[in-house]
Amino acid sequence: MSIQLYNTAKRQKEAFVPRDPKNVGMYVCGPTVYDTAHIGNARPAVVFDVLARLLRHEYGDDHVTYVRNITDVEDKIIEAAAANNESIADLTARTTKAYHDDMAALGVGLPDREPKATEHIDGMIEMIGVLIDKGHAYEAEGHVLFDVPSMPDYGKLSGRNREELIEGARVEVAPYKKDPADFVLWKPSPGDMPGWESPWGKGRPGWHIECSVMSKAELGEAFDIHGGGRDLIFPHHENEVAQSCCANEDSTFARYWVHNGFLTVEGKKMSKSLGNFFTVRDLLDKASKLENCAGEIYRFLLLNTDYRQPLNWTEVGVENAENSLNTLYTAMQKLEDVGAELSVVPDTIVDHLKNDIDTPFALKELIAIAKKANVASDQEERAILKGQLIKGGQLLGVLQQSVDDWFKGAAGSELDGAAIDELIEERIQSKKQKNFARADEIRNDLMEQGIILEDGPEGTTWKRA
Ligand code: AMP
Ligand code: ZN
Repeated sequence: MSIQLYNTAKRQKEAFVPRDPKNVGMYVCGPTVYDTAHIGNARPAVVFDVLARLLRHEYGDDHVTYVRNITDVEDKIIEAAAANNESIADLTARTTKAYHDDMAALGVGLPDREPKATEHIDGMIEMIGVLIDKGHAYEAEGHVLFDVPSMPDYGKLSGRNREELIEGARVEVAPYKKDPADFVLWKPSPGDMPGWESPWGKGRPGWHIECSVMSKAELGEAFDIHGGGRDLIFPHHENEVAQSCCANEDSTFARYWVHNGFLTVEGKKMSKSLGNFFTVRDLLDKASKLENCAGEIYRFLLLNTDYRQPLNWTEVGVENAENSLNTLYTAMQKLEDVGAELSVVPDTIVDHLKNDIDTPFALKELIAIAKKANVASDQEERAILKGQLIKGGQLLGVLQQSVDDWFKGAAGSELDGAAIDELIEERIQSKKQKNFARADEIRNDLMEQGIILEDGPEGTTWKRA
């Protein structure tokens, strides 16, 4: 079975056939680095991280190039730097690092390439020049605008008609536009506003041209998959299509358009502007688990709903994700006496992921394997099931913590792992000295604080209630 992907451009699920299986390319719009990421921003990072893992599994690590950019030129960045009284360079470096740290805690590694918009300004000036030369863009009052009526197919990706396009572009009403749907490729930076010299005066690029240029620089004019949240379909991706298809020799551009649904709070899209957001950092900091363990809970939750559907963020959802992971780690704990048979990723998990990234079903399969392992007595079977848990976990990016870390509390809390270990040691010594009263006291004190001790042949282990 080949990978099936829902292609927004075709409005249907279709078989994914790469242009060249030895050179599969995926570009995903990355963060605008003006502030810390909220958990909604993390949804595309986690979803496309799983898709990248699946592509590598199918085509080989060396045959997949995953590009996720950093938008470090944008008006929101200029405004935030001024408001914080911070240089743009400091702000973007700080928020880029925060993004990397937050995503790492969610098990999202760096993409293969991570271009920054500021490193591609020359390419943007060049592409805008080509669009002007080909009659698809014009200069007006220091701006350069894309001439929407010059492209008959404009609106095809998002499926919008002319009225809807004008409505969507209304935010940018400007007297210098020839057509209300025209959008900005380059804008002037007067005075000491940040900008770059260009044939149209000192200025800065529009957001859309950044991704057309970075994707071309990293993956070429035509590539396989372009992704992002569904809010990017219009205008961002529609405008990328317009720019790239009109400027490039090859008008294919991206062949499969993949978009994740929104993370919502009480039915409304989580967003900075509505104020209904939780930053990834706050969620990690308030969790009672070690950072990467807490991150894995949020990752599990994000993957436990079909990526195209809305995902409503609730405390119950977080608890359910933690309980499911407890099941998985408890199985791994019970399997500690056996080596893992690390042959292949279970077909069932791979097949669900190939079915338009069906992560909820893939996670269910992983839990089914854990439950099987819990009742298995044959050592060979247990070794195989342990291997399946490890390999399946790797593909999904869960079960990536040690069993010890998973069952420990957050570092720095009153009862961190080290403190509990010390008390367990004291209890052992007390028993040796036949001071059973003290040994019982330690056990009961820990119990009151939600720590359960389990005495076994290998010694005493502990877990949170
Ligand atoms: P931004 O930094 O706002 O450009 O967003 C970065 C990524 O997060 C984009 O792919 C957006 O589509 C995505 N995104 C923003 N808000 C949400 C949300 N509430 N749910 C899912 N994805 C979102
Ligand atoms: Zn983009």
